[in-house]
Order: sequence, then C-alpha cells, then structure tokens
Amino acid sequence: MHELSIAVSIVEMASQEVAKRGGGRVCALHLRLGALSGVVKEALLFSHDIACLGTPLAGSKLIIEEVPVVIYCQTCQAEHNLESIQRFACPACGEPTAEVRQGKDLEVVALEIDDAEELLT
Ligand SMILES: [Zn+2]
Repeated sequence: MHELSIAVSIVEMASQEVAKRGGGRVCALHLRLGALSGVVKEALLFSHDIACLGTPLAGSKLIIEEVPVVIYCQTCQAEHNLESIQRFACPACGEPTAEVRQGKDLEVVALEIDDAEELLT
C-alpha cells in the first residue's frame, strides 16, 4: 500500500524532529494534503496508526488539512481554485490550463509535542 510507506516516512521524520528537540511525546501531527498529491486521506489516516506503533508517536493523531488545487489562468491573469480535478480548465473563463500553483502538497507543517505546538519551517 502506497499510503503506508508515506506514513512510515512521515513518522520517521517526526521522530527525528522530536529527538532533535530533546525528546517528548508527539500528540498530533498536522499535515497539508493537496488534492493532486495522489494520496487517499482515509488510507493515510489508517496507515498512520500502524506506522506509529512502537515509535515515540504511538497514539498520536494525524490532522489532515486538505489543500484545494489552485491553477493560474493566463487569460484572466489570475489564480483560481479548481472545483474538480477531472477538468483542468479555468472556472472563470473556461480556458484549459496546465499551470498548477498549489495542490500537490504532502507536507507536515506542525507537530504537537507534549501539548505544545511546534511549527516546522
Ligand atoms: Zn480564466
């Protein structure tokens, strides 16, 4: 399963982050997940629980913020949220577009360690 290997690498990254900060228990991870990341949210949540077993993240929560796809339209010279990833066209003027500005995200943005939120930069 694709999501399990992703979950494992997220847990490894977070474990290293905790070690760097001198230890602690991770309560939650905040993840940005783009609609074009190719990752199924439910599968990733499920995989997270498995990947955490036996690590400092055991019992932690994975909090997923879903990121919409943003495209840039040359005709409008503006960014728009894409309503459906089935159709890559500007929602305002209908012009087809291939310029994706946002939506491929798969990024841990914050860790909550011992109830204190640590922002990752
Ligand atoms: Zn447009």
